[in-house]
Amino acid sequence: MSDHPRTITLPAVQLPVLETDVLVAGAGTAGCIAAIAAARQGASVILVEKTPVPGGTYTNGGIGANSFYAMSTDPSAAKRVVGGLPYELSQRLMEQTGATGYYPTPNDPHHSPYRFVADHEIYKGVISQMLLEAGVTVLLQTICFAVLTEDRNISAALIANKDGCSAIAAKQYIDASGDGDLARFAGLEQIDMWQDYHTVSGGSTGLVFGMAGVDIDRMVKENPQGAVKLSSAELDVPGMCAEQYAFTTMKDPERYQAISALEMRPFTSMSSIHKGEMTYINNSKGVDCDATKALDYSTAELKMRVKIMQFANALKTTVPGFEESYINWAAIQLGVRASKITICDHMISLDEITSATRFEDEIGLFGFEDLMNYKHPECEIKDPGFYGFPYRMLLPKGCDNLLMAGRCVTTDIKAHMSTRNVPGCQVMGQGAGVAAALCAKKDCTTRELSYPVLRDALLAQGVILE
Ligand SMILES: Cc1cc2nc3c(=O)[nH]c(=O)nc-3n(C[C@H](O)[C@H](O)[C@H](O)COP(=O)(O)OP(=O)(O)OC[C@H]3O[C@@H](n4cnc5c(N)ncnc54)[C@H](O)[C@@H]3O)c2cc1C
Repeated sequence: MSDHPRTITLPAVQLPVLETDVLVAGAGTAGCIAAIAAARQGASVILVEKTPVPGGTYTNGGIGANSFYAMSTDPSAAKRVVGGLPYELSQRLMEQTGATGYYPTPNDPHHSPYRFVADHEIYKGVISQMLLEAGVTVLLQTICFAVLTEDRNISAALIANKDGCSAIAAKQYIDASGDGDLARFAGLEQIDMWQDYHTVSGGSTGLVFGMAGVDIDRMVKENPQGAVKLSSAELDVPGMCAEQYAFTTMKDPERYQAISALEMRPFTSMSSIHKGEMTYINNSKGVDCDATKALDYSTAELKMRVKIMQFANALKTTVPGFEESYINWAAIQLGVRASKITICDHMISLDEITSATRFEDEIGLFGFEDLMNYKHPECEIKDPGFYGFPYRMLLPKGCDNLLMAGRCVTTDIKAHMSTRNVPGCQVMGQGAGVAAALCAKKDCTTRELSYPVLRDALLAQGVILE
């Protein structure tokens, strides 16, 4: 579509301009936290999101937040390394009985000592409440489609919504679009990562959905080979349970045929957080696509809508316990693991992660690595089981008033399998939000910001740095 030779020239138009200290593009996992952090730091903030709901991939079935703790085989000895806004959000989800809480998973093959699973509907409510409380101006169903640049700065971002087109002139910009859209529109250097995801996670996309009416006890009892319980916990949260299954159809020829005929991965991870409901069915093999290309992404979305319908039917007809089940929700948009990665001043590597590297300009800590590391022991983080996120990893080369946050950083695919996880994206979001607010206030570029000032502000927002 983009190769179409015919073009038209628009007449010069005058656009209304909204002024703000900080513009955040993308109200996903990282973007919401970035916007709240910047607003709490005293900045005026506009948050722009193309879908009708804040929350992004986490709300769309990002499932378990991996992980607030350092890697450890002994949950009681594990250190919590993620604090600040991500932790506050988790507490508020629990207060609304919208999450399992942190439950120990001593047998977790990733050595993540605790698992935390949120309810997607409650998450939408809690994150909306936090955005409103912080005074963030949120524009939903609004897409950012271009930026204007002057030298090494973005001078305005162009948006479209029901009001038509307008411009937002901010002092600082945060690209939390997941796809690095602002950086791409600004012509900054990027690489494609989506093709690489076939080698590590079955594919670059996934459409998560849930089924109600499932007899889970029967599923486990009558599928001794098919369903393996990975974890379960007694919870003190009304109406909630916490069960995680690895479901493989490989060992049963009939099921294998039924599922593989759909070109779905014959392995699925499932989590149940409400009784009788398989809340999150994550058949990881999505349709590979470049999520920054409209037609590719749209076609993949349509194909996945068909696939989950067929997959649910295959579960109903071949898996004991699913006979009376039905799809009761599905993500509002296709989940993307990676698309375009923006080249930043520092690109964190697998070696730095597994060596538990610490940096002199850290904006937070993280302790999860997921390359199915029980099969790849070289991917485990050495003691003490966590590493640092340097501020430099958020700074795209060639631009002085833009910060990147979320799944759009880090060119090393094996490192990306760590950084892209929910709390990792949130930690980057808080770092970017606080830094952008400080730069706006001090009228300095992202590279001129004093690290001791940033560190003090992060600590004051509850970020764990030691
Ligand atoms: C199927 C699947 C399962 C997963 N399971 C887990 C799991 O169990 N545990 C875990 O920790 N992680 C999991 N992840 C990874 C994790 O959920 C994501 O990497 C993380 O949520 C990404 O956060 P983000 O903020 O970078 O991007 P997103 O949450 O994707 O947010 C980007 C937001 O920007 C919006 N946007 C994009 N372009 C524009 C634009 N031009 N203008 C305006 N808005 C725009 C999007 O609509 C979206 O809301 C999973 C991912 C997938 C796809």
